[in-house]
Amino acid sequence: MTFSKETNHESTDSKNTDTAFQSFKLAAPLLKNVAELGYTQATAVQAQVIPAALAGGDLLVSSQTGSGKTAAFLLPLINQLIEDNPNNSPVPGRAQPKVLVLCPTRELAQQVTADAVNLVRGFKGIRIATVMGGMPYGKQIQAIKGASLVVATPGRLLDLCDSKAIRLDDVKQLVIDEADRMLDMGFADDLEAIDKRCAGRTQTLMFSATFAPKIMSLANELTSNAKRIELAHAGEKHANIEQKLHWADSVSHKHKLLEHILADATLDQAVIFASTQVESEKIADTLRANGYEATALHGAMPQAVRMRRLESLRKGHTKILVATDVAARGIDVPRITHVINFGLPMKPEDYTHRIGRTGRAGRSGVAVTLVEHRDRAKIRNIERFTQQDIVASVIAGLEPQAKPSFGGGGGRPGGGRPGGGNRSGGGGRYGSGARSESRSGGGRSDGNHFAARSSEPRPAGDSRPGNRFGDSRPARSADSRPARSGDSRPSAGPRFAKPKTGGQRRNFSGS
Ligand code: AMP
Repeated sequence: MTFSKETNHESTDSKNTDTAFQSFKLAAPLLKNVAELGYTQATAVQAQVIPAALAGGDLLVSSQTGSGKTAAFLLPLINQLIEDNPNNSPVPGRAQPKVLVLCPTRELAQQVTADAVNLVRGFKGIRIATVMGGMPYGKQIQAIKGASLVVATPGRLLDLCDSKAIRLDDVKQLVIDEADRMLDMGFADDLEAIDKRCAGRTQTLMFSATFAPKIMSLANELTSNAKRIELAHAGEKHANIEQKLHWADSVSHKHKLLEHILADATLDQAVIFASTQVESEKIADTLRANGYEATALHGAMPQAVRMRRLESLRKGHTKILVATDVAARGIDVPRITHVINFGLPMKPEDYTHRIGRTGRAGRSGVAVTLVEHRDRAKIRNIERFTQQDIVASVIAGLEPQAKPSFGGGGGRPGGGRPGGGNRSGGGGRYGSGARSESRSGGGRSDGNHFAARSSEPRPAGDSRPGNRFGDSRPARSADSRPARSGDSRPSAGPRFAKPKTGGQRRNFSGS
């Protein structure tokens, strides 16, 4: 394909354009599958992306998490595959997909695959395969034979291209999902390499949370005269998610607050985010020791363990998942009622992705951030990024002791922000103006102290210089690298116990 350096970005408003699926020119059996999934009205992103993608041409789409963007790109792509194979005949066993979807993380790749499998039910002529690191090569090479739609993470895909196990010259449509995350993870060079290998494609759909300059630079390389569809911006409000913040004096104070939150009767399933892999393990260990059903998930675990743990969460067997940012995208479990930020994210945009694990598909959710005073600058950055204040709350009996004085703004307890803000309370001092909740249960102390933070998921040891998208590239096998030494530790696995009864537990097979 020829690249235009001048992308024609035709912006559209994010007005609510929900539409009946029948109004799209989609094959009848596909519409039937959509109906069986319980989708009646198209979401705003679907209402704009589906007709635009069916019309052909490249798209550059910004949309918020949980907005239905996966079906927005899968439906037109699958529709094309149906049109290409009207008799629904079984496809030959060549490893030359027609549609390629690139995802930054394995979790997202699995979620996209699961959505695609649901949409192609009954179509014998469409096979779907996932290509991602952490999985045995042999099985994957078998699975891609005859697959017309491949969902892949970039590193493993290029490994398979290099070993000629897959060819991308038949790819007609390419999707780059979470392009912003791709760049954050240093996949820019891999994207360029993949771009060259499927240069004969006719359509590229690029999705990103933002249209930051480096995303636009990538879009100019990978798309041609792309139509721009804007449904999300950094300041998306997540109106269905109640966001609050508790100030904590120490890690052990955070644990007490955490146990209070976990005792909330409205909590169904929860994801607790930690800043580091070590921290995620320690929180999960502490919670299990205190009788909670909790299991950890992070990028140093073998992929098979990650998959089993996510599956256990999806099935509702795991009530509490303690994860690093590896899980901040790609988890789509409607029963997650609470997201708790025990450790803060490294980047403000990850806050948005984390809290988007709750309030899925139109439900409501609660996102609670626990923060020590030394991290207040990070809270300020998050508020600046989301253009929203996070209301500070106080739990009676668990009030913080420290009373720092702030100059106003930034999620501080009771801190009146000049020029407004929606924070409750108005006192200038700690705790005075914060929303107060009563304390129920909890209160155990644990005295855990966690290791220094280490950013995830960027793979270690990459010192190659940056590229033209302004980020340095990870080792190719970012998503295929073997598990780190931490994996050899015997895994506690998700255990099942009623909180605080200390009673019945059973081991979950395979973790
Ligand atoms: P996504 O943003 O693609 O991760 O989708 C978020 C959630 O919305 C998933 O659970 C989808 O199954 C669900 N979903 C997608 N489209 C629709 C729709 N039109 N109606 C109802 N739910 C939907």
